[in-house]
Amino acid sequence: MKLLRADHLGFCFGVRDALTLAQTEAQRTPVTVLGDLVHNQTVLADLRERGIRLERELSAVTTDTVMITAHGTSERRLAEVRARGHHIIEATCPLVRHAHESLATLVKQGCHPVVIGQKGHVEVVGLTGDFDGCDVVLSEADIDALPARPCFGVVSQTTQPVARVRALVDYLRRRFPQSEVRFRDTVCQPTKQRQSAAESLARRCDVVVVIGGAQSNNTRELVATCQRHCRRVHHVQLAADLRRDWFHPDDTVGVTAGTSTPDSVIAGVELTLQRFAEAWESPRVPVSTLPQPEFAVA
Ligand code: SF4
Repeated sequence: MKLLRADHLGFCFGVRDALTLAQTEAQRTPVTVLGDLVHNQTVLADLRERGIRLERELSAVTTDTVMITAHGTSERRLAEVRARGHHIIEATCPLVRHAHESLATLVKQGCHPVVIGQKGHVEVVGLTGDFDGCDVVLSEADIDALPARPCFGVVSQTTQPVARVRALVDYLRRRFPQSEVRFRDTVCQPTKQRQSAAESLARRCDVVVVIGGAQSNNTRELVATCQRHCRRVHHVQLAADLRRDWFHPDDTVGVTAGTSTPDSVIAGVELTLQRFAEAWESPRVPVSTLPQPEFAVA
């Protein structure tokens, strides 16, 4: 069995910086992170072990200091947090901030705001939170349901596949030929790199293993991209999720991972796959006895 790794995979700088900030601040003062810092249960469990609190509801926060995640939030939400007397630490990724600023500029120019993204996703909730009536679309059917406007100002969730975003912008232009459509490409560079590396990997492999949290949007998008180019794709959260019967001795197996997957989890999956390959070469080694790597956030 041959193992290949995507050229770009795993933690992006936005997630890495947010985790470092949370860990540094938590050594200084009790901190509550508002919402999931990343969509990865392993990372969140590690943060809890370090004494960092995680709350979805502002009313449940009991610490003075509140941290906003890399996904960002709206100015209205920030004002709410301040009004409750909390000190705010913002780990908002600069590329999410860029998406906020791009949408604000389009609205100032008189365009009706539209976000291409997943309704209810925390980043999209933050992006739309300051613009009443902002539309969120993710399909041609969503666009069909929009009323006509003189001008649409369009940005996208940072983790959407850029090909889908461009196709939907083209469709919006065709659907409303009388309207002006101003589009700012706010898909982030790490997402673009991971998407294109996953595509190139999937084309070369018999099986692809995609590592990432079940709730991670960019991981699910990597799975969908790989499935377009490879018939056998498995989404796992940890090395322990791997099953030996997914693989054959002659397979070329590719590994990629979402932006919220820690290096240690990727290393654990690769180690287990390596052990599977070795066990085929020396069939007397039972895979169940092989060591499982331990998790630690890098
Ligand atoms: S996925 Fe992109 S926008 Fe989101 S935190 Fe990472 S670099 Fe920033």
